[in-house]
Amino acid sequence: MSVLRPLRLLLLGAPGSGKGTQTSKLLKEFGSIKAISSGDLLRKQIEHGTPLGLSASSYIEKGQLLPDDLITGVVCDELKSRGWLNPNATWLLDGFPRTVGQAEVLDKSLLEHDASLNLVVELDVPHEVILERIENRYVHVPSGRVYNLQYNPPKVDGKDDITGEPLTKRPDDTAEVFGKRLEQYNKTVTPLKEHYLKQGILSTISGNTSDIIYPKLVSLILQKFAN
Ligand code: ATP
Ligand code: MG
Repeated sequence: MSVLRPLRLLLLGAPGSGKGTQTSKLLKEFGSIKAISSGDLLRKQIEHGTPLGLSASSYIEKGQLLPDDLITGVVCDELKSRGWLNPNATWLLDGFPRTVGQAEVLDKSLLEHDASLNLVVELDVPHEVILERIENRYVHVPSGRVYNLQYNPPKVDGKDDITGEPLTKRPDDTAEVFGKRLEQYNKTVTPLKEHYLKQGILSTISGNTSDIIYPKLVSLILQKFAN
């Protein structure tokens, strides 16, 4: 499938709401869509032991957000180096912007290149469902692929389906840190949604599973961007 008009999508949602899973599914189905996940970017830096990774991990371990100027620098540099600050580019963002401050910086960077976000989708999943998911979640850090031992297990125990490399548990997926991340999310999401509501680009999709949410997301995208 393909989109006809450039799509610049932000996926919003509580930690564990399935942003990464929806992203993987979209990339598989729509060849023209590419993605940046701020969390994946940071986890790669941590794995490589870079200075950025070191300072990021001190926040991530505690379930705190990175300061706005640090994360906006990282993601905007990445957008620029990929040539995505461009009105013809089609892409999606997962996990950034997370605050109104970040959203304003992104808006400005895009506007300087005659571009803007044109769709923001909030994934609305009940909290009890999310909490249950997190305990069973494993990730393949190099690709950002996410597995769930219950709903979406790897073909071989503990190994990534594509590369066969080991899967790991995110250190911030413990009950204690996860609680803080959820709290942080609930605090920042309301003003952020307000910001995009004013721009007229916010939609919400509700559901208990990724399989319920995904087709709704695809029809929303097709309805707005394929005709
Ligand atoms: P999930 O991946 O389960 O949806 P999440 O959205 O909390 O959960 P990530 O997006 O992977 O997780 O982010 C992990 C951590 O990285 C955050 O808790 C935060 O410390 C840091 N981080 C990622 N994106 C941002 C951002 N836009 N602003 C500030 N910190 C960020
Ligand atoms: Mg994620």
